[in-house]
Amino acid sequence: MMRSSITIARVRGIDIGVNWSWFVIAGLIVWSLADAVFPGIKPGLDTTVYVVMAVVATVLFFTSLILHELGHATQALREGMRIEGITLWIFGGVAKFSGMFPSAMAEFRVAVAGPLVTLLIGAVMLGASAIPGSPAAVDGVVEWLAIVNFALLVFNMLPAFPMDGGRVLRSLIWRANGDFAHATAVAGGIGRAFGQFFIVGGLLLFFLTGVFGGAWIALIGWFVIGAGQAEVRMARLRDAFEGKTVADLMVTEPLTVEPSLPLAAFTEAVLPESRFRAYPVVESGRLLGLLTARAALAPPRGTGGASAGAATVGDAMVQLDHALVLPADKDLGDAAIELMQTEPGRALVPDGRGGLAGLLSITDVARSLELPGRRGVG
Ligand SMILES: [Zn+2]
Repeated sequence: MMRSSITIARVRGIDIGVNWSWFVIAGLIVWSLADAVFPGIKPGLDTTVYVVMAVVATVLFFTSLILHELGHATQALREGMRIEGITLWIFGGVAKFSGMFPSAMAEFRVAVAGPLVTLLIGAVMLGASAIPGSPAAVDGVVEWLAIVNFALLVFNMLPAFPMDGGRVLRSLIWRANGDFAHATAVAGGIGRAFGQFFIVGGLLLFFLTGVFGGAWIALIGWFVIGAGQAEVRMARLRDAFEGKTVADLMVTEPLTVEPSLPLAAFTEAVLPESRFRAYPVVESGRLLGLLTARAALAPPRGTGGASAGAATVGDAMVQLDHALVLPADKDLGDAAIELMQTEPGRALVPDGRGGLAGLLSITDVARSLELPGRRGVG
């Protein structure tokens, strides 16, 4: 859901992107500010003034969300984590980290860094709104930004995992009992209850009073439940694979294909015989990429209808630098999470000398979790 985003800026090497859903929300915010909020708090101004106020306030609100996420991201970098980027979408901002929090207190510091930025912005706006003699239009924008940042802060600090307050809660439980998966399950359970409460409460608010914010809260509830459960599953995965690496579960001699093989030959002979979802592409010992069955069956991109018949495996494969490549000694829990997030659920494992060491498949990961010894996890 976060993939279709446009990168708008780069701060300290962190990509800041905007998901398409944000534009819908930005439009709704501008409209409701210009139409109702600003005429309500600063009556008697020109319609054009309200529209300008609404646009400026929305851009500044957008900026304060990015600053909040940069708060999380900067602290995460300080803790030695990798940041994949910041995306603004329908429910605000999300900073994506890769890998595991090094410790419970590291997660605590990363979780509170964002809310601290929001608190600071709210305080600055509150201070600015107290400056006497500023024009009503400026005053209105500043007041609204103070209110909205404080409201965001309070809401964000509810212990509704995976919202910030819930992450703070998880880090504290984790610190207390030393068990990451258990702490996640407890925080996830509380987050789920909050999510259900948001849905019921939000829908009641919406249908009984007609307040649009009610529908919004219900949607957030739905998101909190989904995202929370996903994190609980990931934590279980890390727990189940603790101490294991990619090399423990990869297939060491997968069926490979040569780049010069015509696609027609591949789909007529290789595919029906083997029926795998993906094939590493190797030429005289050198690993070149990954061919998915789906790409082989679809017409190759960039080639016209006339030349499609002559297309080869090399034309249809995903090049090595665009495929998911995992080192053999990578933590299996981290690897499984990356696999789950990518199509087609296959990762190439290089041997360090330009060749192929193995292929890791999400199917094998899922199967290994179902082995008798592991049954009953969670
Ligand atoms: Zn946050």
